[in-house]
Amino acid sequence: MPGTPVNTSSANERKLNFWEKLYLPEVFKGLGYSFRKMISEPSYTFEYPEEQWYPPDNYRGRPVLVEEEGKPRCVSCNLCAKACPPMAISMQSEDIGGAKERAPQWFEINMLRCIYCGFCEEVCPEEAIVMSKEYDMTFQDRSEAVFGLERLLIPAERLKDRLDYLEVEKNKQFGQQWDFQEENNIHSLRDRKFLKWLSTADEVS
Ligand code: SF4
Ligand code: SF4
Repeated sequence: MPGTPVNTSSANERKLNFWEKLYLPEVFKGLGYSFRKMISEPSYTFEYPEEQWYPPDNYRGRPVLVEEEGKPRCVSCNLCAKACPPMAISMQSEDIGGAKERAPQWFEINMLRCIYCGFCEEVCPEEAIVMSKEYDMTFQDRSEAVFGLERLLIPAERLKDRLDYLEVEKNKQFGQQWDFQEENNIHSLRDRKFLKWLSTADEVS
């Protein structure tokens, strides 16, 4: 209706007293509260970069490749690249013969795409790609953010914390750490459907 004010007060609206209506006393009250907290509470912030933060073993920093005896542990199976949601990983395999058969000729992770989800680490059958503790990265241009083997390979000894952590914690969701819910496990679901189909096929024949 014409003439009706847009902002009408509701029945539950608190009525302000004289001092609250003055506005400034409330501002000083708020500042006083913040100041008291500044003095009385411990500081949770770091004076970075002078003061460094050392992440725990379950931290997901930039993904790196494990180097053993000067060579990548990776067998260039391409699983990590397939699992990577933003398609940050690319590689080319080469035949190297011997028991291992294949290794990456080149391997790249585009760190501008990486979302640090850790899927690559989860799917890798060799524990050849792991999430490191490195979190501070800066680039001058986009090409610097594409890490090749020379930047990705880290000796296994320097990744011991993470590798030890994975030994205990990796794949805990498959029944070891949490209460195992069989219906949540896609593989057992598939297997159960297959077994059901088998038993029905047996009955029919
Ligand atoms: S952490 Fe996630 S986004 Fe980054 S490379 Fe691995 S799978 Fe891709
Ligand atoms: S999943 Fe592991 S072994 Fe396979 S290509 Fe990736 S890093 Fe290499």
